[in-house]
Amino acid sequence: MSAAAEALTVASSPLALVREDLRDFSGYQSARSQRLQGSVWLNANESPWRNDADGDGTLRRYPDPQPQALRDALAELYGCTPGQLLAGRGSDEGIDLLVRAVCRPGGDAVLVTTPTFGMYAVSARLHGTRVVDVPLVEDARGWGCDFAAIAAAVRRDGAKLVFLCSPGNPTGTLLPLDDIARLASELEGKALVVVDEAYLEFADAPSAISLLPAQRNVVVLRTLSKAHALAAARIGSVIADEDLIDVLRRCQAPYPLPAACTAQALQALAPQARSITVQHIATVRGEREQLRVALAGLPGVRRVYDSRANFVLARFDDAQAAFDALLAAGVVVRDMRSAPGLGDALRISLGTPEQNRKVLEVLTGGVR
Ligand SMILES: *Cc1c(COP(=O)(O)O)cnc(C)c1O
Repeated sequence: MSAAAEALTVASSPLALVREDLRDFSGYQSARSQRLQGSVWLNANESPWRNDADGDGTLRRYPDPQPQALRDALAELYGCTPGQLLAGRGSDEGIDLLVRAVCRPGGDAVLVTTPTFGMYAVSARLHGTRVVDVPLVEDARGWGCDFAAIAAAVRRDGAKLVFLCSPGNPTGTLLPLDDIARLASELEGKALVVVDEAYLEFADAPSAISLLPAQRNVVVLRTLSKAHALAAARIGSVIADEDLIDVLRRCQAPYPLPAACTAQALQALAPQARSITVQHIATVRGEREQLRVALAGLPGVRRVYDSRANFVLARFDDAQAAFDALLAAGVVVRDMRSAPGLGDALRISLGTPEQNRKVLEVLTGGVR
C-alpha cells in the first residue's frame, strides 16, 4: 500500500476518533473472557450450588458478556453482521459508552439538536464533556435539522459526537438519509455521526445501517424497548464499524446482559412473537394518523406534528388544562413544557385503540 493510500485508510477508520488513551485499552479481563474449556469450573469464585430460589440453576454462573445467539438474532433483525453489533443495557448504555470512549473528560464536546432525547446531554454532563446545541428548525412543514450549521459547529467547537435522533423524540420527525450520509461524509475524521433509531420500526423507512460500511463514522442505536415491548429487559444495540465495536466492548461493564433478559429477548425475536410485534406496529401506524387528524381538528389545539414514531407532539392554547383534564381521567401524558421552544406542548404516546379514543374523548370535552 502506498503511503498516501495508507494515510487515507487510517483517516477513514473511526478508531482515529476514539480517545487516544483508550485505543489500546484492553478493559477488564473477566474469567469468562478467557475462553477456556473444561467441565469443572473453579475460576470465577461462583457457587458450586444453585440458589434454592433459582429453579433450573441458570443464574448460578456469570453470563456470557455477548451471547452469540443474541448477537446473531439482533444482527439478523437489524440487517448487519454480528461483528458490527454490540448488545448492552438499552441504548442508554450505548450513548454512555460512546461519550466515554470518544470524548476526553474536561475536553471535546458532543453535539445535540434540541428538542431531543435528554440522555445525550446527561451522559455528556456526567462525563464532564461540553454540550453544543444546534436546535432543530421549525417551519410550516414541521421540524428540520440544519445540517450545514451542524457541520460548521463541529469544526468550530470540536464536537466529536453528533447525536441525531430519527424519528426524533419528541418531534416524531424522520431525517432524510441522504442528508445524514452527506453530513457523515463531510465529518469523516472529525466526528462520529450517531443516529438514534429507537423508533425506526414505526417509520417504515430504511435504517442508517445501510450507510455502513461506506461511511465508517456512522453509528446507529437500536432498542428492543419500544416497538418490541421489552423495555424492562434493557436490551439495546450499538451498530457500527467492527473496529469501533471492539473498542466499545472493552469499555463496557464485564457482564452487561443478565441471563434472564437474554433468554427473554431470544424468545421475543422468534418468529411467533415477532409476527405479533409486526401487527402491533401496523396498529400504531394506523392509530397515529387518526389521532393526529382528530387532535388537529379540536378547538384549543394549536398544532399537531406529523409523526413517524409511536407518539404525537401537539401544541395547545392551554397545555396545563389539557394535561390536567387527561390526568383527572387517569391518562398520563408527557409534559414537554420545560423543553426549549415547547412551552405549550404535550407528547402523547399511542396506546391501544381504546386508550387513544379515551384521550380524544377527554380532550374533546375538556380544553376549549
Ligand atoms: C426510549 C429512547 C431510548 C432508550 O432506549 P433504551 O434502549 O430503553 O435505553 C433511546 N433513544 C431514544 C430517542 C428514546 O426515546
